[in-house]
Amino acid sequence: MIENSDISGMGATTSLWVNGRLLTLANDAGGLELIEDGALAVKDGRIAFAGRSQDLPLALSRATDVIDVERRLITPALIDCHTHIVFGGDRAMEFEMRLEGATYEDVARAGGGIVSSVKATNALSPEGLAEAALRRVDTLLAEGVSTLEIKSGYGLSIEGELNMLRAARLIGTLRPVRIVTTFLGAHATPVDYKGRNRDYLIDIVLPAMEQGHAEGLIDAVDGFCEGIAFSVDEMRIVFDRARDLGIPVKLHAEQLSNLGGAAMAASYGALSADHLEYLDAEGAAAMADAGTVAVLLPGAFYAINETQKPPVQALRDAGVKIAIATDCNPGTSPLTSLLLTMNMSATLFRLTVEECLAGATREAARALGLLAETGTLEEGKSADFAIWDVQRPAELVYRIGFNPLYARIFKGQQVSA
Ligand SMILES: [Zn+2]
Repeated sequence: MIENSDISGMGATTSLWVNGRLLTLANDAGGLELIEDGALAVKDGRIAFAGRSQDLPLALSRATDVIDVERRLITPALIDCHTHIVFGGDRAMEFEMRLEGATYEDVARAGGGIVSSVKATNALSPEGLAEAALRRVDTLLAEGVSTLEIKSGYGLSIEGELNMLRAARLIGTLRPVRIVTTFLGAHATPVDYKGRNRDYLIDIVLPAMEQGHAEGLIDAVDGFCEGIAFSVDEMRIVFDRARDLGIPVKLHAEQLSNLGGAAMAASYGALSADHLEYLDAEGAAAMADAGTVAVLLPGAFYAINETQKPPVQALRDAGVKIAIATDCNPGTSPLTSLLLTMNMSATLFRLTVEECLAGATREAARALGLLAETGTLEEGKSADFAIWDVQRPAELVYRIGFNPLYARIFKGQQVSA
């Protein structure tokens, strides 16, 4: 008897990577288990086997396509689970002015700040926005990133927000990468709604969310919950509507002060609460109960010279899962390196090597609600992995400004080296 799949031709190809040092990150109970003589088999773009060569099933060992990786390290592909990578313009001038002693008011008078990003973003079409972002996206992909979250939040109008999300979707068609979109209409209040947050939410954010949802542009809904942005009660207006529409939520919380945003987000079953420098034990406990992932963003911490560190030990003690991300954005984290983010997480926040590696893979997938699809090297998952020219996993975290990527495999296909 010949099985259908064997004669169909399509998808019957098995690719096999052998002689690798394999870090599956499948075990979230702790401990970096490195498989010294590892093999990884891929069928139909999905992992058919990841483990010790000696345990490889006979059927898979007869692969048509065998690649010897010569003792290189294989890890799950990296995942950047928090970015604002789609935007127009840049904020280099403002950076320069501040270093020369300009005040916040000076910068604002010169047209700087988020207002300038909103203006430059709204001046571009979805195609123009995607093109502007590609250079940054490519930098991440060259480091082994295969899943990328992209937020809106610089449009601040219905069409402006939707265009950012359309640009994000477009990037997913222009490059071999999985794009996850997040609607962040509640990022800031546009100038014409100054002092009228609620009106902005009702007039712009909720209708944009509904339209974006109807067009299939929104995978999750986010907000910036902070004294300078939206209050906890204002964010509830946004989250209530997201819940009605069945869209998962996440929140920028406790970055500059403790408003209790993370606990509120957890009460909505949020996928993640992000930043968290000012989170307290109560917030951590609420996140643990809800399974809300803590996404730490050392690039923003570094760029704004923050001194208050996120309560890493409290998160560990509470049992909250920790992810890390670049927060790539033009104002407070112009960072396009997830490898450097790992190093910063270790150096600035004292995360362990294991926490950094899991934070940019397994836990980042969890923060996006994608753990069943990617983030670890386990049978059945999408074959998204990275092959590195390093001996030890710690080298990926320890080096600064060094990219040892040898190959990136996305859905079973080698897409860049
Ligand atoms: Zn952010």
